[in-house]
Amino acid sequence: MYKLRPHHLLCTQGYSGNGYSEDFVDNMNTITSYLRNNLNSKIEIIFSTDDLCASCPNKIGTNLCKDNFKVQSYDEKIINYFNIEEKIYNYNKIVSEIFSKITPLILEDICSNCAWYPISRCRKNILQI
Ligand code: SF4
Repeated sequence: MYKLRPHHLLCTQGYSGNGYSEDFVDNMNTITSYLRNNLNSKIEIIFSTDDLCASCPNKIGTNLCKDNFKVQSYDEKIINYFNIEEKIYNYNKIVSEIFSKITPLILEDICSNCAWYPISRCRKNILQI
């Protein structure tokens, strides 16, 4: 079962093949394709670095990212908007719940200062527009 930090619930949906390094992209491809294609996949939400961070050149240590201030703010916003807890979820179910509540303004509030937001398919895949 994959471990994901809260904001990666959105990244695994918006991801469209771009990333920080070859290893990162390989890992992202494996995890996103598994999660998107297995309707009953379970994930564990953790409030720390996760299985995507594991192959990221920005990971400095446990719960420590080069962009810690920024990524922790994404996590906090997801936690508050969608009442996310540190526990096991059905990935597709929690993503569907988020999709039913998210609006363009909320997505903008969470993600607008992320470098991938203008490049990846976040708006298209998450807002389904
Ligand atoms: S940038 Fe930071 S939060 Fe994002 S995957 Fe890399 S280590 Fe994790």
